[in-house]
Amino acid sequence: MSQEQMEKIVALAKRRGFVYPGSEIYGGLANSWDYGPMGAQLRKNIKDSWWRTFVEEREDMVGLDGAILMNPKVWEASGHLTTFNDPLVEDKITHKRYRADHLIEEVLGESTTGMTIEAMGELIKERNLKSPEGNELTEPKHFNLMFNTFIGPVDSEAEKVYLRPETAQSIFVNFKNVIDTTRMRVPFGIAQIGKAFRNEITPGNFIFRTLEFEQMEIEYFIEEDKWEELFETWLTSMKNWAVQIGLDADKLTDLEVSKEELAHYSKRTIDLEYEFPFGVKELWGLAYRTNFDLASHQEHSGETLTYTDPQDNKRKYLPHVLEPTFGVDRTLLALLVTAYEEEELEGGDVRIVLRFKPEIAPVQVAIFPLMKKDELMSLSGSIYQNLKKMFRTDFDEGGSIGKRYRRYDEIGTPYCITVDFDSLEDSSVTVRERDSMTQERVNISDLGKWLGSRINQ
Ligand code: ATP
Repeated sequence: MSQEQMEKIVALAKRRGFVYPGSEIYGGLANSWDYGPMGAQLRKNIKDSWWRTFVEEREDMVGLDGAILMNPKVWEASGHLTTFNDPLVEDKITHKRYRADHLIEEVLGESTTGMTIEAMGELIKERNLKSPEGNELTEPKHFNLMFNTFIGPVDSEAEKVYLRPETAQSIFVNFKNVIDTTRMRVPFGIAQIGKAFRNEITPGNFIFRTLEFEQMEIEYFIEEDKWEELFETWLTSMKNWAVQIGLDADKLTDLEVSKEELAHYSKRTIDLEYEFPFGVKELWGLAYRTNFDLASHQEHSGETLTYTDPQDNKRKYLPHVLEPTFGVDRTLLALLVTAYEEEELEGGDVRIVLRFKPEIAPVQVAIFPLMKKDELMSLSGSIYQNLKKMFRTDFDEGGSIGKRYRRYDEIGTPYCITVDFDSLEDSSVTVRERDSMTQERVNISDLGKWLGSRINQ
């Protein structure tokens, strides 16, 4: 799939109300996007499926919904204040900033793995590396990726707080609360869905890398000696969910993150990469965070965060942690590019279709009265009201039936129902299936069951 295909997908996403450029009537805001009616529903469906699979259907998981603003000491303890940064250089004329590591890799073709910021500075000087505009560059400097703001009316350092760059930390900070207020025992996990913010210097590729995004994260607390086995189990669970929601297993690959590139808290990380039209890129991640976070919060807060084993002689220890992490926005993008197809029809026509799984599709059923005649409108209206209680259902009376099929193919609706004059006589309707385009007459009284057996698999 090419960049050109990507442009078509971005255009479709706008045209059909999945994703709009952010603040568009004011000329937009770089790399911000708003989700339209279809996008908002699709996001919700992704999150619902994730929550159902990883929280509701499991006995060893509970949920959490933490605040975005946290005590700044959290970020000191987590290491984000000192290590969550990118090496940046500035064009001395235009004052535009660039990632030093990216420029070195792209222009000089040198790997920056394990390279210190000083070594990058040396290399830039030695090889006389210029900005993309051809101007001189400054020495590389660390740039922290956390957004900050101030609490209260005065912008003072003392009132400075950060927008969380990951949801994980509120899970660690609440570990003791969860242990004390539930009956969860190791091994168990805490899951959270929520917004995270990063002042990324090189955002881009549509919604792939943005400044504000949503994460679905799990911190799974274990005994240290179980980490290797449970790492594999989690990797499999992540891949199974990918297939469940309609991602292509052949496009999903594991990237073992090298020792030099591991985050400061991680002993092993696998990036689950996906084949996007702009290349194979990280979709989700699985990290073994050891007990780094609990140990660090225990030290910085002065609170004891140890866990007491109820069986093993009341042994006290700091559990270790496996972290499966998922981005909602990247998942949505991966679903869009996977589902998108331009299908050539007999007679040379081309239809655009999103082949979403029925579980995920923003609209699952669409009802079309053949014409805007009172009897047809009234029968279609009552079918619509009835099905709406069971499925995400739309009603559309505009344009020819063929045009309506195209419209709903483009948002990935698996079933379209046409109510025609025969329906008034035989109490049946025509159900057309999106992928095969086959049509079947179904009795109105059987519709709920007929659709249910196909949609709720
Ligand atoms: P990358 O290497 O692409 O910057 P990361 O390794 O920093 O990502 P994590 O810190 O592991 O990402 O974040 C967990 C997940 O959150 C990622 O796998 C991704 O799905 C999502 N994510 C991270 N940064 C962004 C972003 N800027 N925009 C959208 N989603 C993001």
